[in-house]
Amino acid sequence: MPPRPAEPGCQFASDNVAGICPAAWEAIERANAGCVPSYGNDAWTARACELIREVFEHPAEVFFVFNGTAANSLALAALCQSYHAIVCHELAHVETDECGAPEFFSNGTKILLLPGAHAKLTPAGIAHAVERRADLHYPKPRVVSVTQASELSTVYSCAELADVQETCRRHGLRLHMDGARFANALAALDVPPRRITWEVGVDVLCLGGTKNGMGMGEAVVFFNRDLADEFEYRCKQAGQLASKMRHMAAAWVGLLEGGRWLDNARHANATAARLERELCGIPGVDVLGRRQANAVFVRFPGGVADGLRQAGWRFYDFIGSGGCRLMCSWATTDADIDALLADVRRLAGA
Ligand SMILES: *Cc1c(COP(=O)(O)O)cnc(C)c1O
Repeated sequence: MPPRPAEPGCQFASDNVAGICPAAWEAIERANAGCVPSYGNDAWTARACELIREVFEHPAEVFFVFNGTAANSLALAALCQSYHAIVCHELAHVETDECGAPEFFSNGTKILLLPGAHAKLTPAGIAHAVERRADLHYPKPRVVSVTQASELSTVYSCAELADVQETCRRHGLRLHMDGARFANALAALDVPPRRITWEVGVDVLCLGGTKNGMGMGEAVVFFNRDLADEFEYRCKQAGQLASKMRHMAAAWVGLLEGGRWLDNARHANATAARLERELCGIPGVDVLGRRQANAVFVRFPGGVADGLRQAGWRFYDFIGSGGCRLMCSWATTDADIDALLADVRRLAGA
């Protein structure tokens, strides 16, 4: 386990407050020895690509970038022209948390927002967005973007994704998946990675490394390899080509070898499940939504949220449902949960 955090209280704010997990850290340390070719022409990068292809059982084209905003916005830009539209949920990270980067990198592609229970798109909603206009005065819908796991910690099932795929096929839409927490979704569904990606028509997956236990880095995985044409130029132009690629690639190797990425995700999901279970038992505390991954959304009785903040706890309360979001990671411990629950019980007078 890592040393106590320098700033106790922020451990439930996000899964990006955690450090680098031991498996990634040790791989980075091994990769650090000696001189190797730069810009991804090294053995670690080759191995990381190979592992991703093995995991997905697909000869995908793989690119490594520094963060999720770059992964999403560059991938989306590769899927459409500036006069196209991208359909996504109104809570989607690409809409709410990327400062317009998808529009910027695609030179003005419009994002069309759809509602949907539990932060998930529905086939009917997508079809409606596409069918309501078919004239050239309206930006032409070209891409559907789904977030797996979603911003409300729910997960698209295999069947739901198959329905989205069918809708995309019927309307000539490409399918992008924001997988900043893909590992958490996979752990929740317990299916092979191919079942929720290329087998259900995902053209490109932005596979999250940072929140899974790396220091930085996401992989852009093109299952539709034609769409990867010249993608390396987009990455370079956007300042996303690491010259010392080996350190980022090594972290991927450390996570993927032996399935450590799934161990990390299972741990995060399991700790969130425990937190949820215990919060449900505290009078006055309402657990919201239908958590399947690693974040618990909760409405505290009057004064409790403020009291928790005064006690030093940090968490967001503006995402989605209006409740407070408590997020677990690979590093969350039972002791962290015990400490938080003790404060909740004390403040709730339970
Ligand atoms: C964290 C996150 C990202 C990536 O965010 P960056 O800060 O740009 O790395 C993308 N999508 C979702 C759903 C996220 O939660």
